[in-house]
Amino acid sequence: MTTMANNSEKKRVLVSGGAGYIGSHVTVELIEAGYDVVVADNMSNCDMTCFEGVKKITGRDDIPFVKIDCCDADSVNKLFSDYRIDAVIHFAAFKAVGESVAEPIKYYRNNLDSFLNILEASKTHGGCNVLFSSSATVYGEAEKLPVTEESPRLPATSPYGNTKQICEDILRDVVSATASLSGSEGPVKGIALRYFNPIGAHPSALIGELPRGVPNNLVPFITQTAIGKRECLSIFGNDYPTEDGTCLRDYIDIVDLAKAHVAAVSRMLDGKMKKDYEIFNIGTGRPVSVYELVTKFEKVNGLKLNYKFAPRRPGDVVAIWADTALANEELGWKAERSVEDTLASAWAWEKHLAEK
Ligand code: UDP
Repeated sequence: MTTMANNSEKKRVLVSGGAGYIGSHVTVELIEAGYDVVVADNMSNCDMTCFEGVKKITGRDDIPFVKIDCCDADSVNKLFSDYRIDAVIHFAAFKAVGESVAEPIKYYRNNLDSFLNILEASKTHGGCNVLFSSSATVYGEAEKLPVTEESPRLPATSPYGNTKQICEDILRDVVSATASLSGSEGPVKGIALRYFNPIGAHPSALIGELPRGVPNNLVPFITQTAIGKRECLSIFGNDYPTEDGTCLRDYIDIVDLAKAHVAAVSRMLDGKMKKDYEIFNIGTGRPVSVYELVTKFEKVNGLKLNYKFAPRRPGDVVAIWADTALANEELGWKAERSVEDTLASAWAWEKHLAEK
């Protein structure tokens, strides 16, 4: 992985949505790799806990934080005028699948407008490198596993999933339309990272996932059950056509995932892209069942979890995991942390929250 060699040439990365779960871990890794970072967030789905944690981990009290809503074009423009931005990592989006089904207008407006504003500012401020946080949800219930970047994208089953597909397409089109721009307007180059299931927390236990209300995702539900905030974990479906009957997913450690962003940003900034728009799967390449994850969590943390088997959750795919060869070869990146260590970090984070 490339790191910045010379401080005087430090590149600056804008992390939109940088106070959230993935954004805060990415900010840490960028700073540790030698980049300057500007964090922008409207704080609609987080508080300052993680940003404060980022400052502690990096020992940097001076990380610029700008409270803006990326749906406001003027604010985004001002940000690009105030700072020279060499690359953007765009996380600022709503992410609750169920809510997106109930409130599609809210989701389409927020997730598309914010990205369009980032892209427009990227173009009009002389061009920029844009990394979009996409998702394995674009593959739907894939016919062939593991999925490669060439696997077909299937029709999205939720407005949330659809915004990921649409934003990928918007990025591809903007990259192509801006390729020959020069002068005050410039080309946008793009990478979409398709994440599998990000889990876990920073080894310091100073940053991690902070779901509001009842968690939708498996690991925060597990840790909240273990700490006693939830009575019982429901394992959704044990009659799937898998070995133990529960769904298979590719759980990727959050710090490994964050490091993939640094590798992708370095690729863009060091002029190593093979095409102006590229896509990479970011996963481990190893499927783990829900039941296996629960039992591993119990074993590694030495506790018993109260769980029961419950009916299938509508919209869940049976199985999905990544072919990671492209990311391994092109980004020089590989998931390294074991699922056990990741589950231990998730538990350490939950305990840290309980002590606060
Ligand atoms: N899951 C579960 N109980 C929960 C939450 C999730 O059994 O309380 C299962 C879910 O059905 C899926 C897997 O855990 O098979 C991962 O779900 P999650 O929502 O974390 O991520 P997804 O794969 O849906 O993006």
